[in-house]
Amino acid sequence: MKPSARRIVVVGSSNTDLIIKLNRLPRPGETLLGGAFLTAAGGKGANQAVGAARAGGKVTFIARIGPDSFGAQAVAGWVKDGINVDHVARDDTRPSGVAFIFVARRGENMIAVASGANGRLSPGQVKAAGPLFRGARVLLLQLETPLATVSAAAELAAAAGARVILNPAPARPLPDRLLRRVAILTPNETEAELLTGIKVDSDVAAGRAADRLRARGVQTVIITLGAHGAFVGGGGCRQRVPGFRVKALDTTAAGDIFNGALAVALAEDQPLLGAVRFANAAAALSVTRLGAQPSAPTRAEIERFLRRKTN
Ligand code: ADP
Repeated sequence: MKPSARRIVVVGSSNTDLIIKLNRLPRPGETLLGGAFLTAAGGKGANQAVGAARAGGKVTFIARIGPDSFGAQAVAGWVKDGINVDHVARDDTRPSGVAFIFVARRGENMIAVASGANGRLSPGQVKAAGPLFRGARVLLLQLETPLATVSAAAELAAAAGARVILNPAPARPLPDRLLRRVAILTPNETEAELLTGIKVDSDVAAGRAADRLRARGVQTVIITLGAHGAFVGGGGCRQRVPGFRVKALDTTAAGDIFNGALAVALAEDQPLLGAVRFANAAAALSVTRLGAQPSAPTRAEIERFLRRKTN
């Protein structure tokens, strides 16, 4: 494999999730005692970077944190996973991104996110990392950082010949100019519906949604379908790659782990359907474990899982 193989750039968000588990959600104005507190590393960009690194990618993460311990702890975690953090900038004017999450006993939740430094990840910061894109096979993007930054990264990578994967989450309308730079778009069912107006409730509907997005300039569309796997439209394929049957414990970040693993498989030039199967396996393993970044499986775990499964 060439030295540049597996080289992946991720541009995106980092958040620290501050979680309180309670019997029920508090009402406005109410103070509720008796919760249990935990923190977890999160943010779609960081989750995908960690997912890709554990799946065997050589990952550089371009991100922005604040001058606080949340940011410092996040960076320490990425370094532990072997991620290159040379292009993680520290913003002295904004705190690191945080999400305040209440989770009630029956699973209902309430989430507020303060994006902080993520909102100041600028096109300039991405352009300053320009030479990096020339050595990359894949650029992996999501939508928790400013759209101008996402677009600038896509332009740079496409010009350098890297494949751009855009996970359009959280969903928002996207300009055709950006979609034309995207080799692979990976919405889930809800995001695909928001982008196309087509309710993705069958493989036929998934195919139609993929066609509509391809007509706007995306080369290949992969719609993730939870436990059902993922539908692939484009690159000579029009079919669903079934998911793996597992006992799901926590589906947080399943999509992020899917995207991280997909980026690795494509950076290695695995054929498209095989790459989606690899991503399904990584994501299936992640839903059997608690948390976002802690749930990302290693390459050895993914390969062992694939050897055991026959579908
Ligand atoms: P998101 O987390 O973005 O909403 P999905 O729910 O579509 O995305 O899940 C992403 C991927 O995770 C799926 O394509 C599949 O590979 C895997 N996955 C999700 N839920 C399950 C599950 N219950 N069992 C097995 N695999 C799952």
